[in-house]
Order: sequence, then structure tokens, then C-alpha cells
Amino acid sequence: MKKAIILTIGNEITEGLIVDTNSKYLSQRLKLAGYYVEKILTLPDKLDSLVKEIKNAVSEADLVVSSGGLGPTEDDLTREAFARALNLRLELNEFVADKLNERAIKFYGKAPQSVRKQAMFLEGAQILENAVGTAPGQFLEYNGKIIILLPGPPNELIPMFESVYERIKTEDALYTRRLKTLGLPEAILMDEYGQFIHSKPNVTVATMASYERGVEVRLTAPIKFKDDVDEIFHGLLELLGKYVYATDDEEIQNVVARMLFEKGLTVSFAESCTGGMISSVIVDVPGISKVFKGSIVAYDNAIKTYILAVPEQILRMHGAVSEESVRAMAQGVRRLIGTDLALSVSGIAGPAGGTPEKPVGTVCVGIDGPIGTVSKTFHLRGDRNIIRKRTTLVALNELRLYLLKL
Ligand code: ATP
Ligand code: MG
Repeated sequence: MKKAIILTIGNEITEGLIVDTNSKYLSQRLKLAGYYVEKILTLPDKLDSLVKEIKNAVSEADLVVSSGGLGPTEDDLTREAFARALNLRLELNEFVADKLNERAIKFYGKAPQSVRKQAMFLEGAQILENAVGTAPGQFLEYNGKIIILLPGPPNELIPMFESVYERIKTEDALYTRRLKTLGLPEAILMDEYGQFIHSKPNVTVATMASYERGVEVRLTAPIKFKDDVDEIFHGLLELLGKYVYATDDEEIQNVVARMLFEKGLTVSFAESCTGGMISSVIVDVPGISKVFKGSIVAYDNAIKTYILAVPEQILRMHGAVSEESVRAMAQGVRRLIGTDLALSVSGIAGPAGGTPEKPVGTVCVGIDGPIGTVSKTFHLRGDRNIIRKRTTLVALNELRLYLLKL
């Protein structure tokens, strides 16, 4: 198997100012592309140590990819360091330099000399265009090895890496599919479906349970066994049915949004313990304004009664965290905003506020829509933040299940 080494470059990482998410992403993708990632090195912006580590990496690995240090400032040393380590010249690309100049003038009114630094390329390197930022990346074949220089910002690095992904794939490249489930504990899933899941010896199965995301089943195999992976994937999809809330890169909000788009239905939320988190998650989806009209964060009981018209008697008799209350909240917000559907949540996120009858983690979800009002109580675990995230997931999942019935 071919070997890869990842170099993440920047004082910001070695000084603990930012978290290195690029190497997490690159390792996952390189594994799929068929590489064994032998090392991830995090290095400060220091020329001599960069040169030394780049030399080592290039002698040890078949592919070396770096992240960061491609900007125009003095501490951006990646180009220079690779040039010295590999004994290559840096050449100015006039075309790129002109484009960077133009861009600088457009944004800042003038082009500093340092802009040209970003138009310097290792001799023989291909330019990787940066669709989002300024610094282009570089792709170089060097003594039978592949060297890739990528910028640090993840939103620039990811599309650039994807643009070379097909090119760097090896014969050991993998194929993977994921099913995300909710409502089926990991142990039960394996007890009931384990035999089927493990029925193809070439397919590796990994399950990952996380409280905020449910249980994910990941099926992986060398690309030549793609059909085996797909067979188990589709079989499981059928067997698990509505327990599967999303597949592959999709999240719950994408699935709910897609169903709303397809059915042409609008939605509003009334959020108590999530404080707007459900709204925030749904607006991650581009184009959502067609179906998501708005929300009321009804945190205080007075807002529940005055704005959402939840009868005071309900709050007095059953409490704000009750199925009666979330049903009235959903009906209230649906009427107020005028949507086809409405989703509401009310719960005790803790650490305080729990009682013996309603301990911390008690969460009620309500939905009002064309086929009536429904509600459900959940008993969640975790700290305040985990409970709010889990509530967001289960509430959107309840909305998905309601939409399935329409
Ligand atoms: P720029 O032109 O933006 O300076 P660059 O290629 O020089 O790009 P850096 O200066 O190293 O990149 O980093 C720029 C920003 O990118 C950092 O402030 C940080 O927000 C982000 N970043 C850099 N490296 C990483 C990393 N390994 N993981 C996540 N984010 C990173
Ligand atoms: Mg920089």
C-alpha cells in the first residue's frame, strides 16, 4: 500500500490557537484514496525545521500533502521550504500574478508587492485554482512521488483537495457508504441484523454510536467490491426502514428539507429548551426559505401564553415541559406564522430545574399539521449542550416521521 504523510503548517496550530481539522479531513480522504497515512506532523512557521521535515517526508512517503502557509505574508514559508527541500527553483507565473493583482486592487484599492509571492510556483508544478480565496495550491510529481501544497483555510483546502482526488487514487482505493440511524441501540442493531451486515467477507463494517448523532453504520471495501457494499447498503436500508434518517454525507436537516421541498409544505418552529438551535440547523440548508418561514423562541412561560396562546391552565396543570404544552405550542406557532406544519420542543436541559417526576433530560416534542397534532416525550442524557443537540436531532427526526405519513 502506498504511504502518505500530512504536514500541517502554522504557529497558530502549534501554539494551540486553532484546532487542526485539516488533517482529520485529509486522513479520511487519503485512506479512501488507498493510502496508508503514516504520519501527521504539525510544524511551526520556521524555515529550517520545515525544510528538514519536508525532506524526510518526501524520502519516506509516496505522497506528501501540506496545509497552510501559502498566504502572502512573511510567516507564509511553505513554498520557500519545499523549494529548498527539493532543490527546485520558484518561478513566477505572470498570469496568476496579474490575476492576484487585479483582485487585490478590486478589494483593497491597491496591490501590495507581497501579492506576487503567491504567484511563485515550484518548477514543474501544476497550479491548483483557488475558487474561494487567493492562494493557489500546487501539484507536483517529483521522482515518482506526489506532492500537494494546499492553503490552510478549510473552505479553500477541501474543494482543492477534491479537485485532485480522482488523480491520486491508488489501486487500493476504497468505496464506502454510510447509514445514519436513530431509535435503534447499537447492540440491538447488531443482534438483529449482524448476520446480514457481516454477510460479505470483503466488506468491513464499523458502527459508531454518538449521542448527538445516533448510530452510524459504515460499510467499506476495496473499490472492486463496490457491488458487495451496495448490496448490503440497500438491504439494510430496506430492513431498517424508517430508522434510517440519512445516508452518506446527508444530515437530518437535509433530509427534512428535501421532504418539505418535494411535498411543497412550509414549516415553523416553537423552541423552548433548544433556544433557536433547530432553526439554526435548518437554515444550514441552501434554499430553505422556500419552506421554512420562521420560529418563536418561547423560552419564558409568558411568551408561551402571550405569543403562542398556550392556555395558562395547561402550564399550571401539566407544566411547560409536557405533551399538552408542546401540542399547544405547535398549534399556536402554526396559526401565528401560518405554515402547513409546525414543530415545537420544551425540555429540561439542566443542570438545574429537574424534579423527581421530570428529571433533567425530559424533553417533549410536538407537531401540528394536516393530519393532526402529535406529541412524544423523550428521556435524554448528557450535559446541557448535549441535551440541546440531541433534542434538535430527535425533534427533526419526529418531523421526518410525520412527513413520511403524509
Ligand atoms: P492565507 O492566505 O489565508 O493566510 P494560508 O495558506 O497561508 O492561507 P495559514 O495562514 O496557514 O494558511 O492559515 C490561514 C487560516 O486557515 C488560519 O487562520 C486558520 O483559520 C485556517 N487553518 C490553517 N490551518 C488549519 C488547519 N490545519 N485546520 C483548520 N484550519 C486551519
Ligand atoms: Mg497565511
